[in-house]
Amino acid sequence: MTLLSSTGFFVVGALLGHLLPRFPFLLMSRAKGFNTRFPPHPEAVPLSPHLTQRVLHMRMFYWMGLLVVLLPLGLGLVSVRWGNASFGFGLWISGGWFLMNRTQSFIGGLQPPWTLSMATELQMISNKAEGPDACCNWASPHWQVATVVCVNCKAELSRMARPDLGRKRSERRPLGFLRLLISDGYPMVTLPEEEE
Ligand SMILES: [Zn+2]
Repeated sequence: MTLLSSTGFFVVGALLGHLLPRFPFLLMSRAKGFNTRFPPHPEAVPLSPHLTQRVLHMRMFYWMGLLVVLLPLGLGLVSVRWGNASFGFGLWISGGWFLMNRTQSFIGGLQPPWTLSMATELQMISNKAEGPDACCNWASPHWQVATVVCVNCKAELSRMARPDLGRKRSERRPLGFLRLLISDGYPMVTLPEEEE
């Protein structure tokens, strides 16, 4: 096997190992029928139980990657042992990187893009908007790109940047897909923690 072809096999293996464990969050909720409860991307999303549930679903798809990554790792092992070693090595490198990347949040690294506390906060803002402590009489909290804002009185209810919510993206297909791959679901904007 020439150097060129083994490099090629390595790259294909690495790409596959990169994509496979991300399939759940990249694909599972993008179909049209899944998103009828939400305005199209990139519009602001009104807070509702559906939104809270969607955040929890995205969180599940995110962690599902830890199961799916066993596939490229297993395939890589078989490939190194009995098949094309460069291909298997590529699968192992990116699959292993994925495992490290996902598990580092347990030891205090970057938090996942979707968390339980995020869902809880959304639900609390939503409940408050319906109660006596609401910002105004017609409170209607919407999740914009970087904040949760009441669209009626413009009050800022939370400085929580919006991660990808599994809606079909407004960019054209390869671009939207690429953006998702690069951002890994994290919000495209990051606000400075404290501006005061
Ligand atoms: Zn308001």
